[in-house]
Amino acid sequence: MYKRSMLFFTALFVSVICYPQNSSIKSISIGDIKDQIKYLSSDSLQGRKTGSEGNTKAALFIAGEASKIGLKPLPGQSTMFQTLPFQKITAKPDSTFVIARDTTGKVLAKGGYSPFMIPSSPIDITGEVVFIGYGYINSRIKYNDLQGVQINNKILIVMTRKPDMSGSGMPAEGEEVSEDTELRKLSSLMIMGPKAILYVADPAYGKPIEQSFSSAESSKLVPLFKHQSWDFSVNVGIISVETANSIISGSGHNIADLQKKIAQTRGPVSFVVPGVKGELNVAIKKENVESSNIVGYFEGSDSLLKNECVIYTAHYDHVGVDAAGDVFNGANDNASGSVGLLQVAKAFSVLDKKPARSIVFLWTTGEEEGLYGSNYYTANPLFPLDKTVADINFDMIGRSRMAADTGKVRGEKLDVTGPDSIRLVSARDSREFINIVTDAGKENKLYVIDDGKGLHFSGSDHYPFTVKGIPSVFFFTGLHRDYHKETDDYQFIDFGKILKVSRTGFLTGFRVANLPGRLTIDNAPKK
Ligand SMILES: [Zn+2]
Repeated sequence: MYKRSMLFFTALFVSVICYPQNSSIKSISIGDIKDQIKYLSSDSLQGRKTGSEGNTKAALFIAGEASKIGLKPLPGQSTMFQTLPFQKITAKPDSTFVIARDTTGKVLAKGGYSPFMIPSSPIDITGEVVFIGYGYINSRIKYNDLQGVQINNKILIVMTRKPDMSGSGMPAEGEEVSEDTELRKLSSLMIMGPKAILYVADPAYGKPIEQSFSSAESSKLVPLFKHQSWDFSVNVGIISVETANSIISGSGHNIADLQKKIAQTRGPVSFVVPGVKGELNVAIKKENVESSNIVGYFEGSDSLLKNECVIYTAHYDHVGVDAAGDVFNGANDNASGSVGLLQVAKAFSVLDKKPARSIVFLWTTGEEEGLYGSNYYTANPLFPLDKTVADINFDMIGRSRMAADTGKVRGEKLDVTGPDSIRLVSARDSREFINIVTDAGKENKLYVIDDGKGLHFSGSDHYPFTVKGIPSVFFFTGLHRDYHKETDDYQFIDFGKILKVSRTGFLTGFRVANLPGRLTIDNAPKK
């Protein structure tokens, strides 16, 4: 008995190492990868933000390529689009501004305002204006911009960065405006209950600051397919140096003088702007928009196992255009993964015999807004989830380490991999699954680094599948210097890496889809 079962398992083991025909793996080619990424990361797609025209263009392109490859809508579906409804809220630029009036109501200053968070209802607030320098408090060096001023219920003007008191007293030379530092300042100010916070670039910085804040968005999306239990909004935004100067002009100062005075006196210069009432107005427009997941499949070749599937996922949306008009092309995030999935689909399409199980491809939308597309799919699956045996997710598979990839990006350490390696994020719930990926990598000269439940574990579309108990792996380059920046562009893509990851992903799915039984779960995630 014992011996027989050992033999049986040995036989199974031999049968799992199956090889697809060579032409199928070879069909994944650099030329196609380049063309597809070039289009998806071009300015004409305007950063593919969910609910935008560029997002729809990207969806149409992917669905078009997918049907050329031969993918079909899931059983019972007439198209490959799975449509999600959203409400899009935009701040109307002409009616979004700050005003300063004198005691008689005369307008002294008026200027534009770029909100960090788009409110769900219009804003119209008035209050006293307080200039609070950098809004910086450091007890170690006994510096406090809030000394002697009350900020509760006030409209605050705050400069970016912080003074270097061990140096010139000005912000350190070459120091960039960091979202991280500013958000830390913000959270300590917010506790004290100001009505609004107006950010202005400190004059020594001399550059626009909109692009330093990923939160400075031109619109907000509210999903209409799920219940929103809270609506969080803060009145924080950016004004120009000119606007700030005209608001405080009655004090006889301008922002540049005040910044120099802080450096010279090594102390704060905060004050209530005399004789001025500030006003902040944000008018909004609400419209209903749609954005779609794209879902297609190949039917499996085994009469029974075709009722199960392996699903591949990659998001095609990105973050759009910032308040200053910079397009975030998202070449690595995630034109690379979207194209990788097209390549994997092509490799399956040329197989003479499809794998035993069916193969589903899901290009998601709304990932950047909070995994909307993948959560929607797992709540409304087009292939039964209890028959979905594994998820293989691609999110950022096209960058390799370059000399400039040092330090941090958006507060996190850069950990982008070299040209011959890739990170694999998973719940480590199935050793067998990880071994299949690792072996498939080796055969394609790709070293797979098992990251397990690392920092990015819940940060992509594999996660809703993991939550549903489906073993999932997520291929990821690691963070590079252009992550979520307007410089995540085509010219920095390592096409050879996309080729290797796509071939590895294909081989992984092919083998899992041909396993006689399901993947062994030896480390189920705790609920
Ligand atoms: Zn992203």
